Amino acid sequence: SSHAKFFVGGNWKCNGSVASVRTLVDELNAGSVPKGVEVVCSPPYIYIDYVMQHLDAQKFALAAQNCWISGNGAFTGEVSAEQLADFGVPWVILGHSERRALCGETNEVVGKKSSHALAAGLGVIACVGETLEQRNGGAMWTVLDAQMKALVDEIKDWSKVVVAYEPVWAIGTGVVATPEQAQEVHARLRAFCAKHLGAAVADKLRIIYGGSVNDANCAELALQEDIDGFLVGGASLKGPAFIKICQSGA
Ligand code: PEP
Repeated sequence: SSHAKFFVGGNWKCNGSVASVRTLVDELNAGSVPKGVEVVCSPPYIYIDYVMQHLDAQKFALAAQNCWISGNGAFTGEVSAEQLADFGVPWVILGHSERRALCGETNEVVGKKSSHALAAGLGVIACVGETLEQRNGGAMWTVLDAQMKALVDEIKDWSKVVVAYEPVWAIGTGVVATPEQAQEVHARLRAFCAKHLGAAVADKLRIIYGGSVNDANCAELALQEDIDGFLVGGASLKGPAFIKICQSGA
């Protein structure tokens, strides 16, 4: 990595209970996070208040796992970016592959959510990634370019954006991308940004990798030139493992 501060996100997904969240927060607070690494934890909405009150804000910031596409209003069950900003949550994950696949979020929706969240003052972790079928069928670059293009079309200011490359075949499967596979895609995503947004923006942009990252495979990935951090699912639920992943960026 060589592009601005190393960034590690912990995506807790729809996991946890009052008891397990308390344990995880205690484990995280007991860990040491290198100064040069920015760490963001993303609990389910219902635990955000507790985590905000108890997680050491010197070491960890917070992210929501999703937000609504527009402002407050008659959108039952949703939470707006404005509400997140008002509550003091600085980041939101958008376009996670689970939301694309299970909730029907299209590239266009993810682009519009991203620009709305940025306008509300949030930082955005925007997720892209191909399925195994798309990779094996030769559609990978078309898919990734379309996902990136939808972001480029909507986002004006990229200073508070982190792009997460998360190949769907690597998420929650234990099949991590090789450092070479991840580096190849990250370099290509950065080149795409350089072409559409200019070299200065592309150079500063954090492109993080997600998909079965753990405390054993993170170090090798972190050495890659264009891997500027991680988005971690399963391993972010184990305090000591997650702390080790954060330390791999130092
Ligand atoms: C994720 O959900 O963003 C993720 C990368 O999950 P896992 O680390 O469990 O593969």
